[in-house]
Amino acid sequence: MKAVVIHEHGGPDVLKYEDVPDPVAGAGEVLVRVRACALNHLDIWTRKGGAGRQVAFPHILGNDVSGEVEGLGSPVAGIERGQRVMLSPGTSCGRCRMCLAGEDSSCRQYRILGYLVPGGYAERVTCPAANVIPLPDAIGFEEAAAFPLVFLTAWRMLVTRAQVRPGEDVLVWAAGSGVGTAAIQVAKLMGARVIATAGSDAKLDLARQLGADHVLNHRTDDVVAEARRLTGRKGVDVVVEHVGEATWERSILALAHRGRLVTCGATTGPKGATELRHVFSKQLTIMGSYMGSKAELLDAARFFFEGRLRAVVHAVLPLAEARRAHEMLEASEHFGKIVLRP
Ligand SMILES: [Zn+2]
Repeated sequence: MKAVVIHEHGGPDVLKYEDVPDPVAGAGEVLVRVRACALNHLDIWTRKGGAGRQVAFPHILGNDVSGEVEGLGSPVAGIERGQRVMLSPGTSCGRCRMCLAGEDSSCRQYRILGYLVPGGYAERVTCPAANVIPLPDAIGFEEAAAFPLVFLTAWRMLVTRAQVRPGEDVLVWAAGSGVGTAAIQVAKLMGARVIATAGSDAKLDLARQLGADHVLNHRTDDVVAEARRLTGRKGVDVVVEHVGEATWERSILALAHRGRLVTCGATTGPKGATELRHVFSKQLTIMGSYMGSKAELLDAARFFFEGRLRAVVHAVLPLAEARRAHEMLEASEHFGKIVLRP
């Protein structure tokens, strides 16, 4: 089959479109013909390497897959050849205390498709049967591929971790990112008021269209002052933090008393300055969030299938142009997901 393979870490030029052997589904696994695979920032990190990422070369990237079931390693009730599906990106042992408690992403054997195991930048991929989510006919492959990772992430951040409540104020940084587009919608679904930031007027318009009540340009607006003004000097109840170094200090300052900062990533750098007096005097909560469980993804998918959450697709490129897709993602000019089609 054709796949985009990396044989070493590096820039976009290490992405090679080439022939590789077809994967074979083992017992309890499903072989999926990939129809679409969305990019995530994790692809960039995995491609670049570093920070203890132990990738076995040659490696195939791609966390977010939709397609058709082409084969089964062993019969699985409810899964048939030809079925249209999307894949839950996380695999875990299924037997440890964390897995049994529904905390898949805290399993010591937690793996993400395309991170430490072969992913969806290919014509075919295998995964455990438990990761297969049947798609309704009305959901296209491209939007289905754009859904799982970022909505799973946003759902866990806002619903499970921050437990956002109706009427609360939520600040979402970088509305145009995949997590941003998901977080705006999940926060609105939970009844919150959303203040979203982006770096251009065009992106701010799109953020409004997704449901953001207020939008701020994080390049030109004083986000902390504006967040205070928009909340009657209270500050926001929840900050969705995934940017890291460039925004962390402002995230802390934008919070209301008893506010919660929930972070799932640090695309601009790993260190965040925190004035501890704000943390104790305002009784803040700082919480981490990493991926999520299969159950959380199913909870979010219900709203996706009903049309109440929308996967935002910025561009669709042929798989062979994965290099260009990476360059687009790194240039941060997109709004929503970049999707590859094998
Ligand atoms: Zn486990």
